[in-house]
Amino acid sequence: MSILTIRNCLDPVLRRKCGVIQNIDERLVTLSADMIETMYECVGVGLAANQVGESSQLIVVDMGFGTDKHDPVVIVNPVITASEDEEIDQEGCLSIPDIFADISRFKRVEAKGVDLNGKDVRYEVADYLARAFQHELDHLNGKLFWDMLSKVKRDILKRKFKKKIKEMKA
Ligand SMILES: [Zn+2]
Repeated sequence: MSILTIRNCLDPVLRRKCGVIQNIDERLVTLSADMIETMYECVGVGLAANQVGESSQLIVVDMGFGTDKHDPVVIVNPVITASEDEEIDQEGCLSIPDIFADISRFKRVEAKGVDLNGKDVRYEVADYLARAFQHELDHLNGKLFWDMLSKVKRDILKRKFKKKIKEMKA
């Protein structure tokens, strides 16, 4: 297993809609394992494949978030099939390091997809995990969390982010 490089929000791969996965092969299994390792290394709750440069509809999420155990799941071609209630909470993104904003999301969602064995899976999640699911599915559609904000707010965060990147390179 290896730690993958997380693409930042300036990378065009994060703006493209990811392709539907047609067959689950050895390469995808390895990619998933590497994504899980990378997610934990970066202390994230979820990761979408395009965040590591792979434009495919695959996410990993730590279902153990909020407990003392890791419980990673891999979902291929995930879709949100039901959602209810909304709440505003702070959100960040491994592709936009150190930038946070209050974002409104559904409080509960149901998501479906298949696992690495091609078996149908269904998850019902709430609160922060529901937020993570919506955030990662947005990634697969080429969306970033700050797209939910007004242009003025987004531009302020973008400037902050670009400044941060410059400092990191300096
Ligand atoms: Zn993200």
